[in-house]
Order: sequence, then structure tokens, then C-alpha cells
Amino acid sequence: MATAEGAAKHGLDEMFDPTFFLDEEQLALRAQLIEICETKIRPLADQNDRTSTFPRKSLEALGPFLGLLLPKEWGGLGQSHRMLVATTETIARYGDASCAMCYTMHIGAVEAMRLTANEHQIEKYLKRIVPDRLIGTLSYSDPETGSHFWYPMASGATKADGGYMVTKKASWTTSGGFADFYVFQTTSPDFKEYSDLTVWVCDAKDAEAKPGEWDALGLRGNQSGSLLIDNKFMANEQMCGSVGDGAWSNDEGVDPFFLISSSACWNGISLGTIDIAIRHTTRKTHKDVGLRVCDYPTIQDAVGEAIIDTNAVRLMNYSLAKAMDDVTDNGQKVIAPGEYGRGSYLHWLWQLKFAAAKNVAHVVDKMLHCCGGSAFKREPLQLERYLRDGKAAWVMGPTNEVLRQFVGKTALLGIESLDYWNQVVNQRAIDNELKKLDAEGKRALAARLLAEAEA
Ligand SMILES: Cc1cc2nc3c(=O)[nH]c(=O)nc-3n(C[C@H](O)[C@H](O)[C@H](O)COP(=O)(O)OP(=O)(O)OC[C@H]3O[C@@H](n4cnc5c(N)ncnc54)[C@H](O)[C@@H]3O)c2cc1C
Repeated sequence: MATAEGAAKHGLDEMFDPTFFLDEEQLALRAQLIEICETKIRPLADQNDRTSTFPRKSLEALGPFLGLLLPKEWGGLGQSHRMLVATTETIARYGDASCAMCYTMHIGAVEAMRLTANEHQIEKYLKRIVPDRLIGTLSYSDPETGSHFWYPMASGATKADGGYMVTKKASWTTSGGFADFYVFQTTSPDFKEYSDLTVWVCDAKDAEAKPGEWDALGLRGNQSGSLLIDNKFMANEQMCGSVGDGAWSNDEGVDPFFLISSSACWNGISLGTIDIAIRHTTRKTHKDVGLRVCDYPTIQDAVGEAIIDTNAVRLMNYSLAKAMDDVTDNGQKVIAPGEYGRGSYLHWLWQLKFAAAKNVAHVVDKMLHCCGGSAFKREPLQLERYLRDGKAAWVMGPTNEVLRQFVGKTALLGIESLDYWNQVVNQRAIDNELKKLDAEGKRALAARLLAEAEA
């Protein structure tokens, strides 16, 4: 039970953690991870942030957690989506949010590859993740389509002897220039429409990054600069799955893992600032009135609301992870291309990411207000780093603007109206615009369309 001494020492009491989602083994793993975070990861967080240093040491300190869902015989922990939520949340809360985001992209890359892994990929990458501390990442966002990362216009692949010549231009890639392998998406060879996508894996040597260009408001260690894979040869076994598997891989692998784990990162940041605010406000006294900051009802209200809102999103996060566990044999079932397990929860996962990102932006501000000017300074609280890190949530694709539109449109107009790849004709819009044309305008348009149709 929560005590005043505990609050001043640790922050938010464990009674506010939804530990009922985790079994004994998972609780023990979580305790082990908190220890790793407190002794090895958090001590590096401030310096990594100041110097934009990629958190390699912190990621390596995660050891078997790097293969969280991988089978135990490959050095992994054979764990579930629920444990993924607990892991990322813990790293962001007790360790370093930059490390938690690199971890999210790493797990996304590992699991996207694992969906369809061939022998080469199992031996070269998956079995070496834990013993060799290999770090992977996802390179999807395209400079020409911004946060519409499922639309890689500046990419392509053509058939070559024994493989393919592949080009990928990525505007953002977490761990760019520091990862050991990159899972990335391009249009398929001979594609006819942009929904025809293919996924690949390549080594660091094939990817040109510019780490020096990363200078951002927050998540400064995550090094999400641009990346170029410049017409490189990819052997057949570097393809993840088959030609054209990309859209399915997004729905069943990349998106579910990114959305569930990044939401846990945002919740971890929210919790980290609540911890700091509880510790600070229970220790600091105003001698004139003889009250601690936590004795003011306004502070109690703000902390209470932050806990309630954050825990509402955490329950959503763990519930969706459990739903995904239930359809994948706790994360271990191999889902065949074209089939959906995790992917059937995508519309729930959009709601989750929106809620977690909206909440963290609010909570970090409110906890700053609770701690006052002391939190505005870097030291000693380090709350301002959490605040800056938390601001990445809203703008990371799928952005919150896009997500609320996805959900509203799906509810109002049906799922086909989302039109990811700009293929569905909006007849209402066309008819409305045509009404504005006079006879002359209609004739001119008709002539242009006929000429285009002929061509
Ligand atoms: C810290 C960080 C790490 C990242 N790591 C990775 C990574 O590892 N791999 C990767 O592939 N990408 C990564 N990204 C990229 C990310 O997913 C987005 O692609 C990127 O943030 C988009 O930025 P942009 O300036 O191009 O936004 P834009 O897409 O240009 O958006 C600008 C504005 O337009 C709005 N907007 C866009 N589309 C619509 C729409 N249809 N309707 C309404 N509003 C819309 C947006 O919400 C936003 O407000 C990362 C981003 C960040 C911030």
C-alpha cells in the first residue's frame, strides 16, 4: 500500500500498476528489468540526451529482452505482447525514452522479419539477436509522402540475376546509422499500384545514414535521421516473405508492434513524470506556510487526474496486448501471409496510439506545472527531458491527426473510405465540382479526359 515515505523515495506506488495482467514469470522479468534500467540505463540517459548519443550501451544492457518474443532456444524469452507492453513502458519510465523508442523499432523489425523468416534470416539475424546483441530497426517513412509511411514513392526494386536491385529513400529511421540491420519497404518489382509493396532486410553496410544531421527537440538519442539504400543488390533470401507481401506485413506485423509498443513508451514517459512529481512535491516544503507542495489540493488534483488518465490508457494498452496474445498463442503462433491475428485489432490500436500520445502531451505539461520552475531546469529533476521526449508521440506517424481521421472516417463512411493508396474515387466530390462548370468548361474537360483515356 502507498505510504508517504514510499512516495518521497520512489514516486507512484505499485498499487497503481495493472500488474494483474502479468503472471509470476512476467512480474519477475519486470523486476529484473527495473533493476537494469535503474543501474545501467537511466544513468546514461541525461548524457545521451545532451550529446545526441545513440543508446547502444543501454540497448545492449537489455540482453535477453532484445529477443523478447523470440523462442527460448534462440536465446529469446519466448514472451508475449503483454510483456512487450510491460518492457517498453518500464524502459521509458525507469530508464530512457530514447532507448525505449529504439527498442520499439528493434522489436518491430525483428517481429516483422520473423513473420515470414527463411533459413537465411533465422540463422543470420534472428538466432544472433540475443547472443550477439544485434540491433535492428524499421525504415519506412518516405521523403515524398511524409507521415504516410505505407506509401514509399521514392523507392523501387528491379529483378537482377540471383536477386534484385533495390532503392530506398527514407526520411526518418530510428537508430539510423547505428543499427546492425534494417527492415524496410519498397514498391514491388514491376508494381502497377502503390499498394503492391515488398519488404526486405539488409545489413548496415548497404545503408547510408547521416547520423550527424539528427538534432531534435526530444528523443535525442534515438537518432532518427534519413537513410539511403542506393540501388543495392539484395539476394533473393533478403526478401521478407514474397513479392507483394508488404501491405499484409504492415497490418499483421509492423503496425501492431509499433502501435502497441510505442504507446507503452508514451505511457512510460507519462508515468516517469508522475514519479518525479510525486517525489519532488512530497519532499519540498514552503516554510512560510509549513506545507509541502503535495499538501496543496491543486497539486493533489493534478496528480490524481494524471494517474487516472494514464491508467485508462495503460489498461487499453494491456487489454489490446492480451487480445493479441489470445489470437497468437501468447505471441508465438506463426500467422501465415494473408491471414490476420494481430491485424484484426488495427482499428483498436489506432485508438490506443491516439489516446497515449494525447495523454502524454498533457501529463508532461501538468507534472511540470506541479513541480514549478524546478522542473523547467534540466537538473536535478530531469523532468524536462521527459517532457521533450513525450512531444514526439503526437507527430510520429501515423500522426494523431491522421489517426482520428481514420477512426472517424471508418465509423462514418466505412473502412474503404480510408483509401491508403489513393485509389478510391470520391464521386460526390467529382459531381460537386462538375456542377460548377458551365457547358464550355464541361466540353474542355471532356476533351482533356478523352485525350488522356486514349493515351
Ligand atoms: C522521433 C521520431 C522517430 C521516428 N522514427 C521512425 C522510424 O524508425 N522509421 C520510420 O519509418 N519513420 C520514423 N519516423 C517518422 C514518422 O513516422 C513520420 O513519418 C514523421 O514524423 C512525419 O513527419 P513529416 O514532417 O513528414 O510530417 P507530415 O506528414 O508532413 O505531416 C505534417 C502535418 O500534416 C498532417 N497530416 C498528414 N497527413 C494528413 C492527413 N491525411 N489528414 C490530416 N492531416 C494530415 C500531420 O498530422 C501533421 O500535422 C520517426 C519520427 C519521429 C518524430
